[in-house]
Amino acid sequence: MSQPDTAAVGSPEDILRRAAAVPPLSGFPPLDDLLRRFDAVASAHPELISSRRAGTSRLGEAIPVYRLTGGQRRHLVVGGVHPNEPIGSWTALHLITQLAQDPDLRQALNASWEIVPCVDPDSYRLNEGWFADPTDRSHYARHFYRPAGDEQVEWTFPFSHKAAYFDRMLPETQALARLIDQTEPELYVPLHNSEMGGVYYYLSRPVPQLYDLLSRLPGHLGLPLHQGEPEAGNLEVLSPGIYATGDSAQAYDWAEDLGLDPHPPGSGGASSTEYARRFGTLGLIAELPQWRHHQADDTRPVAESYADLLTRTGRQLAQLSDVLLSVLSQAEPYLRLDTPFIRGARSFAAGIAQSAEASLARAQQPSSGRLASVAERFGCEDVVRMFRLRYGGMTWRALEAEVQAGVAAVELRRLAARMATHFAEWATEAESLDGAEPIAIADLVGVQYGAILAGAAHCQGLL
Ligand SMILES: [Zn+2]
Repeated sequence: MSQPDTAAVGSPEDILRRAAAVPPLSGFPPLDDLLRRFDAVASAHPELISSRRAGTSRLGEAIPVYRLTGGQRRHLVVGGVHPNEPIGSWTALHLITQLAQDPDLRQALNASWEIVPCVDPDSYRLNEGWFADPTDRSHYARHFYRPAGDEQVEWTFPFSHKAAYFDRMLPETQALARLIDQTEPELYVPLHNSEMGGVYYYLSRPVPQLYDLLSRLPGHLGLPLHQGEPEAGNLEVLSPGIYATGDSAQAYDWAEDLGLDPHPPGSGGASSTEYARRFGTLGLIAELPQWRHHQADDTRPVAESYADLLTRTGRQLAQLSDVLLSVLSQAEPYLRLDTPFIRGARSFAAGIAQSAEASLARAQQPSSGRLASVAERFGCEDVVRMFRLRYGGMTWRALEAEVQAGVAAVELRRLAARMATHFAEWATEAESLDGAEPIAIADLVGVQYGAILAGAAHCQGLL
């Protein structure tokens, strides 16, 4: 006989139970399907949910936002801030569905919610080729699209610091800024995900009351908590697997101190979370990998020093950027189309060179003399695999677009064939990685959903 459920709504035990109760999911929804599902939930609960247009994409598509009325606090949840990260599509849909169907949950959290299923519809549609089967990493990379730095909604908020100045907000970014201004949210959750390893989080300010539950969520669903390399060397660790988002000025100063160009051409601006800070908003990001790896939370030391690890993988990144920049410079005289793929390929080829320089500069710091951990070694090596697959795939896709449009000179066709060969090698190398397993999508959604509930419960004083 099952035990009656006695945990108070919004308590840690209740949130863990809800996180583990997401029904099975297959693949990721294409945008038309996602919006149909949102409309279905809204029309089933017209007394609670309304929708309106938040803005317009660069290609002219309406960007809808759904408002669920459920209490005094105001929270904002936004999908598609990085259009290659679709786990949040299911999370946003699950969140609005649960809030609509469960009056106890609505009442306990005492909040009205603004939920944007996808803020960058044009770019999201360019990833739909891998959504039906997201388990094969090579197939994913072959159909992958991530916008150039200054075309990402997440990173195109105004920024001015020392020599950096950015104000070229995309129409989608302006729509999100208006929404933040109108909502003045207490909790803001842009829905991100990572790729390989373990789960980690970002918080815009220290909130010790959240650390225990956020750390327990992945383990509760059988996922590792990421304990290795942070995404950038300047990030402050608040608790294992939980980082402070920091801000762009701090990242600028850190890069400058390392002797790097802190704002190279093509850089974006501030993040949406930084923009929302003006309202005292708590920003919360749950980064979920699509594949788990058992080394992601292994903090035991390896025989290699951290400096040697950074040097070895930094050199591999430099070689990768050399390959991509060389192909692109040979292609430039023949390019006829201005596509998002070629703009992204140029941006990331240069960005990888910058990452390589940062790794090599960090290797010189005295604090890097210690031994690396298993998790750090895995993380640094996997960044190389990830960049080869993602940005090799995008560069190939950029050249192939010219071939398919029928405007490619023979020189461009040969460069496309060369990228195909590189990609095949990198895919074979990545496929030989032992121990990577695709994660059940419901578990990923569960962790992200649980993190949102935790944030909302904290705002309401329940945690
Ligand atoms: Zn992201």
